[in-house]
Amino acid sequence: MASPYTPQVLQDHLDALCPELQAVVVDAIATGNPVVETWRGFGQAVRLRSPRPVLTATAPSLEAALRYRPVNDFHYWLGEIHCVHHPEWCIVLPYAAPDDDRLPGLGLSPLQTDT
Ligand SMILES: [Zn+2]
Repeated sequence: MASPYTPQVLQDHLDALCPELQAVVVDAIATGNPVVETWRGFGQAVRLRSPRPVLTATAPSLEAALRYRPVNDFHYWLGEIHCVHHPEWCIVLPYAAPDDDRLPGLGLSPLQTDT
């Protein structure tokens, strides 16, 4: 019996990601952490299967353009990776383990939300 809600990964959404976030997705997929859902309308985001591994082989020059926004809300998710150049989309990191709230900020600068 089909679930009333089935997460979808739409290629159009993946194609809409900026080069920086696409690089994050490619890196995550290469380490076995695929995109499991994409959406727009409630923000625009792609959700990875797990908060880790991410940013395993990404260049410092790429990471300099990325920002981490901790969400830490069990009704939503653990956190988000944003691109400073292209604020339209973000990458959502879900909860996967009870100690995920102690996940450090990935070494990224925090997202500035007051600008
Ligand atoms: Zn970007």
